[in-house]
Amino acid sequence: MHRAMQDWSMRISHVIDHAAREAGVREIVTRWADGSETRTTWAGIRADALKMAQALKALGIRKGDRVASLAMNHSRHLVSWYGVAGMGGVLHTVNPRLFDDQLEYIVNHAEDRVLLYDAAFQPIVDRMKPRWPTVEHYVCYDSGAHGIAFEDWIATQDGDFTWVGGEETDPCMLCYTSGTTGNPKGVVYEHRSTVLHAVAGLQPSTFNFSPSTVMLPVVPMFHAASWGLPYAGAMAGIKFVFSAVNDPAVLHGLMLREGVTDSAGVPTVWLAHFQYCDREGIALPPLKAATIGGSAAPRFMIERLMKNGTRVQHAWGMTETSPIGTVGGPTCDWERLSFEERVAKTAMQGRPIFGVQLRTVDLDDMVTELPRDGVSSGALQIRGPWVIKRYFKAEEDAVNAQGWFDTGDVGILHPDGTLQLTDRTKDVIKSGGEWISSVELENAAMGHPDVAEAAAVGIYHPKWDERPVLFVVKKDGSQLSSADVIEHLKPLVAKWWLPDAVEFVDDIPHTATGKISKKDLRDRFSDYRLEA
Ligand code: ADP
Repeated sequence: MHRAMQDWSMRISHVIDHAAREAGVREIVTRWADGSETRTTWAGIRADALKMAQALKALGIRKGDRVASLAMNHSRHLVSWYGVAGMGGVLHTVNPRLFDDQLEYIVNHAEDRVLLYDAAFQPIVDRMKPRWPTVEHYVCYDSGAHGIAFEDWIATQDGDFTWVGGEETDPCMLCYTSGTTGNPKGVVYEHRSTVLHAVAGLQPSTFNFSPSTVMLPVVPMFHAASWGLPYAGAMAGIKFVFSAVNDPAVLHGLMLREGVTDSAGVPTVWLAHFQYCDREGIALPPLKAATIGGSAAPRFMIERLMKNGTRVQHAWGMTETSPIGTVGGPTCDWERLSFEERVAKTAMQGRPIFGVQLRTVDLDDMVTELPRDGVSSGALQIRGPWVIKRYFKAEEDAVNAQGWFDTGDVGILHPDGTLQLTDRTKDVIKSGGEWISSVELENAAMGHPDVAEAAAVGIYHPKWDERPVLFVVKKDGSQLSSADVIEHLKPLVAKWWLPDAVEFVDDIPHTATGKISKKDLRDRFSDYRLEA
């Protein structure tokens, strides 16, 4: 009775073959950096991916070799996702916002042999070329005066190519964490983990994709596999609209013109879109669904999107988890909840999608499992088939003996499975033996209409060990005082959580993925002292 079903290894080539066969006519639209637009289809993406695979082979690229991309979201980048994996290579998506030292480190560490890039990143390429000795070939996605142009390069091939087969556990993609401490670490995705993650992404409880979906993903294809959308989207045969620039005016225009139903991005992307609409005095685009992740989605953002009739899917994940771990969205009791209750629920990070398991453990001993009671807060750990086991070229596993990966996040699990993130392990503020969530303080502060951005940091205190200090960027022209901020916080947080000081700053440092960099903030204020 064993092995009665067909052998069908989970490889990415099946995904693009399916999309081309079953949704071959569905459009893939790209708005390029120069303002031009092109249209292709899933069948067109596959045809080009075959040519690209052939062109890579002609360059001598072999199975397992790394091919890097330094690019925004567009159809040629999508072709590369399938072309590289289809010829057995490993696509290393490089984040163009990394610092030069990090760019040098990761390309050398990955031993990239080919680098595909957008003309917009020509200055990075010119600067980094001497520091990237392993890169033998540079191909520019845009045509023009930039060396080999992608379209010309693949046009030298006829597409008569058979996808390279192999084990489903073969590597297909490589992405480095942005490395807030030490060097970035490489996360290698496998064909199998990628396919499973994408199947999970299709579920109604995840991205809710169907052939009627028209998605404009703002989440970049250069980081954390763009949340797996380019794979899940192919499986469901959705229409994609890509923009190689993240200008809200451009995104807004595309959303209206192309009938976009779904979009996904980090909170700053949505914020920029709100500001654009407010400036122009126009309505938000009529989206059916908005996925927000990467950092906590603030309440006002959720409220505004919900009032716009948009289903808000608040997602949590990390590069190490492919990245989707949890996603929120309406539950069967939704109709009975008040608007405020819906917002409060959506502001939490959602529920684990099938495939991954979560648990929280005691922050002091890191082993005692905590109850899922909606109160106990602890270190968040995850395991599952698309969760990292070992970083690229690392000597040791990144998980414990039971396979749990420690996320570095602190959270609460609720009885209905909902995850509520409260902080990063490194950022929780320990005051007199009790924990204060820096994130909750920040979120509460950001609810003040005159606060543009806020970051809470634990500063050494002679009596309490650490006390919170809140750094605030005011909105232009605001007369906000620290007393105003404290008054605003009083009804929102416990009295002993109130910051010992509110300091106004011109800017708050961010990481290459747009998150507040507490490390840089702490470095900047390393001489800051609180009185006993
Ligand atoms: P980096 O951007 O630092 O390279 P990731 O993109 O992997 O790393 O970021 C993962 C981290 O982002 C998580 O561990 C978590 O701290 C944070 N994060 C992701 N999604 C959310 C969310 N919805 N709410 C709060 N924090 C989030």
